[in-house]
Amino acid sequence: MLIGGIDAGGTSINCAVTKYSDKKPDIIQRTNIETSTPDESLPQILEFFKPYKIDALGISCFGPIDLDCDSSTYGFITTTPKPGWRNCDFVGYLRNEIDAPIGFDTDVNGAALAEIKWGIAKGLKSCLYLTVGTGIGGGAVVEGNLIHGLLHPEMGHILVRRHNNDDFEGTCPNHGDCLEGLASGLAIEKRTGIKGQNIKDENDIAWEIVSSYLAQAVVSYTLILSPQKIILGGGVMKHNHLFPLIRSEVKKILNSYLLKDELLDGINNYIVYPDLGADAGLFGGFALGIDALGQVRKS
Ligand code: ZN
Repeated sequence: MLIGGIDAGGTSINCAVTKYSDKKPDIIQRTNIETSTPDESLPQILEFFKPYKIDALGISCFGPIDLDCDSSTYGFITTTPKPGWRNCDFVGYLRNEIDAPIGFDTDVNGAALAEIKWGIAKGLKSCLYLTVGTGIGGGAVVEGNLIHGLLHPEMGHILVRRHNNDDFEGTCPNHGDCLEGLASGLAIEKRTGIKGQNIKDENDIAWEIVSSYLAQAVVSYTLILSPQKIILGGGVMKHNHLFPLIRSEVKKILNSYLLKDELLDGINNYIVYPDLGADAGLFGGFALGIDALGQVRKS
């Protein structure tokens, strides 16, 4: 059986094919398509999958997207500011041409599912995946299922307490100083005047400020969802020195309130970097495709 995976991001769309397996997927063939306009990019996606008789397809997609199966706009990219993609019927377009079950979810939900199937959270029933890049977004698996609801989680826009030494107004166009507005890659650049990767001093106050906000977020997610592992990925988290700062701040905030080893001596294995690397998004697509296949079999 062949599974197709799509990792649709704001600048490029990765597509790949793998053989169905319980093990970490080996990619048979892959391509990278520019995210220009739907009229240009969507036919290129079809062109790539055409030679394969795929049995299921999964799409790990930038958002916001409509995941309500009862909605007339299910499968659409909805209110994105990206030119041309607003109200784009992504799933509908592919469903017209591809005769296979199609799984569709946010890129971060896809990444959470992939990490629990094949990555750092393998064998657990729950995990949370937060990407800290230009923006901040989160997805989660709870009791083996991805979280959906009214919309999909928007974990980057929670509110946090201000750090004493931070009077930066924040970058979020809707909320100013929400988590994304204060701790994203864009916020780091606007606050300091330089891109995060060019801040060489690990003791720069900017890192203390950013890690304090990310730690508050991790505490909130832990208290609300009780995930068994929290995975922090994205460009900002490539700065490894943030992990000890975040872990120690999380312990400080929790103040021994939750007496679980994962949040005490075992915290190095609780707040972790993802395992699936640069292909996490594609693996997310495969995981969503395999899930869609499973749902069809159940029904
Ligand atoms: Zn916001």
